[in-house]
Amino acid sequence: MKIIASRERCKGHGQCELFAPDYFEIDDQALVVVVKDDVAPADVAAVEDAVSHCPEVALRLQRV
Ligand code: SF4
Repeated sequence: MKIIASRERCKGHGQCELFAPDYFEIDDQALVVVVKDDVAPADVAAVEDAVSHCPEVALRLQRV
């Protein structure tokens, strides 16, 4: 699974970083940065939580 993030949609709420801090960071422009876009099987649930809690629908997961 790969993470796709839209910095155009992101409003910097930081929910993604709370749910999956190994994968998401908020940068100095207060926008999401995907630190690691290749999701390890053990982390899929946490990353899915992050994706589903993004209030701006800025994140999605793509099967590879
Ligand atoms: S939860 Fe969504 S809007 Fe908030 S920082 Fe993460 S990607 Fe951006």
